[in-house]
Amino acid sequence: MRHCVVILFLTVSWFLNGNLLAEDRPNIVFIFSDDHANHAIGAYEGLFASVNPTPNIDALAARGMLFENSFCSNSICGPSRAVILTGLHSHKNGFRKNGDNFDGSQLTFPKLLQKAGYRTAMIGKWHLITNPQGFDYWDILPGQGAYYNPMFISQDNKKYRVEGHCTDIVTDKAIAWLDKTKTTGKPFVLMCQHKAPHRTWMPAIRHLDLYADVELPEPETLFDEWEDNASGAKFQQMEIDRHMHLNFDLHLPLPADYDAKAEKGQSLDKSGWRNKKNMNAAQLAQWDAKWKDRNEAFYAANLEGKDLVRWKFQRYVKNYLRCVKGVDESVGRITDWLNENGMADNTVVIYASDQGFYLGDHGWYDKRWMYDESMMMPLIVSWPGVTKPGSVNDDLVQNLDYAPTFLDIAGVKPPATMQGRSLVPLLEGKTPPDWRESLYYHYYGYPAVHMVPRHCGVRTKNHKLMNFYQFGEWEFYDLKSDPDEIQNLYNKDPQSPQIEELKKELVRLQDLYQDETDLKEKPEDWKQQFRGGQ
Ligand code: CA
Repeated sequence: MRHCVVILFLTVSWFLNGNLLAEDRPNIVFIFSDDHANHAIGAYEGLFASVNPTPNIDALAARGMLFENSFCSNSICGPSRAVILTGLHSHKNGFRKNGDNFDGSQLTFPKLLQKAGYRTAMIGKWHLITNPQGFDYWDILPGQGAYYNPMFISQDNKKYRVEGHCTDIVTDKAIAWLDKTKTTGKPFVLMCQHKAPHRTWMPAIRHLDLYADVELPEPETLFDEWEDNASGAKFQQMEIDRHMHLNFDLHLPLPADYDAKAEKGQSLDKSGWRNKKNMNAAQLAQWDAKWKDRNEAFYAANLEGKDLVRWKFQRYVKNYLRCVKGVDESVGRITDWLNENGMADNTVVIYASDQGFYLGDHGWYDKRWMYDESMMMPLIVSWPGVTKPGSVNDDLVQNLDYAPTFLDIAGVKPPATMQGRSLVPLLEGKTPPDWRESLYYHYYGYPAVHMVPRHCGVRTKNHKLMNFYQFGEWEFYDLKSDPDEIQNLYNKDPQSPQIEELKKELVRLQDLYQDETDLKEKPEDWKQQFRGGQ
């Protein structure tokens, strides 16, 4: 009899605890943007903090933890997303470069959360070619997505158009899903993924006047001439000066006799030009009216040389920050919803972007390189009761860690096959003594748009070693004395103890992560064929 009582008690308490645990498991809201660099976020105290670009993201940081040493493992849109879903480096999940197809049959954190009883949703930019798997609900932008009146692909694989600005529409859809899912009583994970501020930077009409009368500060490296870099830096195609297009990137009107076929070039992106054709008459009229005076002033000024670069920088970064403003408003709307619906206390809110971006740094736009501006990823996590408000973590973390972290938050043991590590102890303020001291990086997209050579490398808190293996060249930086990565110390003394040590560490990481990519230098004629014989 006594045994029966004990068993009954244990059963009831297990059942109650089990249920309570299930109900108490935190929700996860992952707000993810595209190409949002740390230095365009107020909380990261970047170059543009003086214009207060991100009050809602900053408020999230004030409630939670900001990671100041957060990086991607391959600085490009699709690959970063594949790493986040799988917890595996690009060579392991198979999505090495844009244009690859994501193998949706592999293990991902949404599938495991779904199995554990979470409701899962993916809304917005997906960019992995194959349709999402592991989600109770998905509604995605095809490819890069459009800024105005974008097409979506619904879960029944139908394409349909929605009127409005993309950032607002994705937020509306996210909130509509939250409204529906809160009635289920189940914990949930929502991935709200914005297109902005990706090229070609088309803000909502209501943001077009922002910063119009402000002169934004220029980065110190705006006129970098890459004197110390490996040769790839001189042969890239991502300069504000030579490659950023006045009409397609900066939205000056095309000449009436413009022949689209006559202008070719790998760095040309005509998506915004095509998108304008999808604007309705009212949107187009408002868009043109906002730019009219500014465009006329530009033509009257007849700028050239450095003055023209400075003008392009200003228009580019202002439009970029206007797109960021829309994303920041989205963060505000979603966190307001959580407050208004009594769900803020049990929801982990994460803000991140797939990689960083050059905002005139080194004279560039775009990403891809292992230099810090594009290797860095913003990561801000607010977990009420767990993250200390306003805390800053300086451990080396990577997008590789997101999948195990999300699983750990939900009480699901991350599979041993995942290569990242849960950030939950860091969020609790208890960094394990054996936390990593170096990060592995590998970019694969060459030859391809923007012509950034393949490279792999290792970054510690203080140093960075990069191997441009196709060209047999290396770079090494002391990040403490040279945070802008201007002085490549490799050629001064390639056998220095620090370089030898990092070379060993690079090999150790390649063994650890089982990256068996062929790193052989290419023959001379192969190198020259993409460099116009220069
Ligand atoms: Ca991106």
